[in-house]
Amino acid sequence: MFDVLIIGGGAAGMSCALVLGSSRTKDFAKNKRIGIVMHQKTSHLQSALFNNVLGFKPGTTGADVLELGKQQLTLQYPHIEHIENEKVCELIKSDFGYIVITNKSNYKAKCVVVAVGYTNSIRIKGLEDYIAVHPKARLEKDRIWLKNVNHKIEENLYVAGTLAGWRSQFAMASGSGAHVATDILTLWNDGIQTKVHDKASN
Ligand SMILES: Cc1cc2nc3c(=O)[nH]c(=O)nc-3n(C[C@H](O)[C@H](O)[C@H](O)COP(=O)(O)OP(=O)(O)OC[C@H]3O[C@@H](n4cnc5c(N)ncnc54)[C@H](O)[C@@H]3O)c2cc1C
Repeated sequence: MFDVLIIGGGAAGMSCALVLGSSRTKDFAKNKRIGIVMHQKTSHLQSALFNNVLGFKPGTTGADVLELGKQQLTLQYPHIEHIENEKVCELIKSDFGYIVITNKSNYKAKCVVVAVGYTNSIRIKGLEDYIAVHPKARLEKDRIWLKNVNHKIEENLYVAGTLAGWRSQFAMASGSGAHVATDILTLWNDGIQTKVHDKASN
């Protein structure tokens, strides 16, 4: 049983995983099982080129970010489980949270974060009721979002990134993933507002 399972290995999904992973030394996060369905094939990062993202050397490609992000997660937070070469097909609500069905396997999760991007080709059964026209994209682009309030769709179900209704900018998608992570950490911390910072030593 995962405590949280993130769906999607793009900007929002990996940012969410990094912030969750960084909480590993906190008592409230110890023994939490965190996973990410590391599907990257259809990420918008695959074709992106970045000159306007703070901290990225101009000319950084999205393809590099996908690869380096995965490496960063693996090296910094090896306790996070990567589910590779699978894509999610269905979410089934259950008494403990959700059953996540992929093209190859099934997983149980108490909490799910959907971060699969805002293209209208979303093919995850169980999410149909939440799909609506994206509020901040041009109509002719045919983008969608999952209706939510502050990233929460319903109990134990969150959405992050462009699919949460944000415009498509890398910093916004990443920030959205980080936002969801800190909301989940706050819940784990009995409702006490939570963030995770590392500090440079002098
Ligand atoms: C050509 C191009 C240029 C861009 N240039 C810039 C720029 O200069 N500056 C800027 O700020 N932003 C830029 N962007 C935007 C930026 O790339 C996006 O805003 C960002 O990638 C959105 O992040 P996301 O996590 O919402 O979606 P994505 O990064 O698209 O991630 C979604 C992830 O979900 C996975 N997924 C999809 N379906 C499933 C499934 N069923 N199961 C499991 N996983 C699934 C996908 O493979 C993907 O990895 C550009 C985008 C493009 C396309």
